[in-house]
Amino acid sequence: LSDRLTSTFKNLRTKGRLSEADIDATVREIRRALLDADVAVPVVRSFTGAVRERALSAEVSQALNPAQQVVKIVNDELVAILGGQNRPLAMAKRPPTVILLAGLQGAGKTTLAGKLALHLKNQGHTPLLVAADLQRPNAVTQLQVVGERAGVPVYAPHPGNQGADDYLPAGADPVAVARQGLETARTRQHDVLIVDTAGRLGVDAELMQQASDIRDAVEPDEVLFVIDAMIGQDAVATAQAFADGVGFTGVVLSKLDGDARGGAALSVASVTGRPILFASTGEKLTDFEVFHPDRMASRILDMGDVLTLIEQAEKAFDAEQAEKMAGKLVSGEDFTLEDFLVQMQQLRKMGPLKNMFGMLPGMGQMREALDNFDEREVDRIEAIIRSMTPAERQNPKIINGSRRARIARGSGTTPTDINQLVERFDGAQKVMRQMAKGGGMSGMPGMGN
Ligand code: GDP
Ligand code: MG
Repeated sequence: LSDRLTSTFKNLRTKGRLSEADIDATVREIRRALLDADVAVPVVRSFTGAVRERALSAEVSQALNPAQQVVKIVNDELVAILGGQNRPLAMAKRPPTVILLAGLQGAGKTTLAGKLALHLKNQGHTPLLVAADLQRPNAVTQLQVVGERAGVPVYAPHPGNQGADDYLPAGADPVAVARQGLETARTRQHDVLIVDTAGRLGVDAELMQQASDIRDAVEPDEVLFVIDAMIGQDAVATAQAFADGVGFTGVVLSKLDGDARGGAALSVASVTGRPILFASTGEKLTDFEVFHPDRMASRILDMGDVLTLIEQAEKAFDAEQAEKMAGKLVSGEDFTLEDFLVQMQQLRKMGPLKNMFGMLPGMGQMREALDNFDEREVDRIEAIIRSMTPAERQNPKIINGSRRARIARGSGTTPTDINQLVERFDGAQKVMRQMAKGGGMSGMPGMGN
């Protein structure tokens, strides 16, 4: 998916203005890419529709070039479908918080139970795992092994290896096991109960009934539907079946460490409207992440920091200022101390400078020039420049000893500070002149082109 989108965006990036035909071509590529990634067809349709509509509407922020605008729209729409922001687990007002895991066999429920237990334990909770999967002979043992690794006790219908012999056998009824697990959590003051359930290879009525019965027995605060991210087009049907048959409050994507590029994430989130809370990313207990819609969107787009950069640039840049500046640079007019100040202030708004320049390709010169830039100094630079006369601002070379002393007094700094600023400005001016010659600023978001 991402390779394809990346090349689509590369084509866009080289263009200045976008025609409707450009947008349609782009939307077609996005549609194809999403279908390749096994995003469900209706989801692809509504997604591309929304992107096209927004791309055609005149919400083009002047700080961005049109190609970046389309990237941003695609990203925004992806984030929106994926739930906007991460939703944390709903914790019960009166513990224990009960979390029920549901999903097909092999989806990764038991593995997730251990990961989630460890995650919660690390946050200071005292979880108890319940083995309510009595379908497969080794399912209980598997949960016990996972529990032991996580250092979290397991309530099971067979005497466990937890050394807690009051965790009594409860027979072979998973509903009874779940209920007794809940009682055990109450009496032993576990504040979270995680109930692992059985799955089948496919959706069937008996499976749904059992999961519903367990749900009714323990009245969970969260029912988490665990789904294998590699499941492909089946994601929608499976998610819909669990939504109808058991109902769930949130989704966990498992096996996101493989080649899965998030097609399932998009489908499930879009079709069920339920948020994705966590991602499982490997077989180890620590291969577990809180799910962030924005990061998933980036993963789907595979554009990483570039998207962050666009966001930051959009927030920070006063488009008009930037255009004026770019015009000045391109025309080769002299870059003045006042321009220097404006640039410093704008760049400061963009966040830590080093990170910014680190994200931009081909910004080596600029990075070098500003590598030692201390953001807190912008205020001081401003004070110094404000204390200069217009003639001094225009031509810092006229600043002699007495002028330097006056500026230092006026700005509450020292003559050395004035010297340093003038030197630094000199360096920046050289860079700016070079860039003006090479037109280098046009590659920078917000600097016009
Ligand atoms: P359950 O039937 O839903 O309980 O699924 P399991 O937890 O038993 O997992 C089924 C298989 O998938 C096991 O071999 C797990 O080790 C593996 N598995 C589970 N989660 C992940 C994951 O996030 N990444 C990878 N690579 N394997 C996983
Ligand atoms: Mg299992």
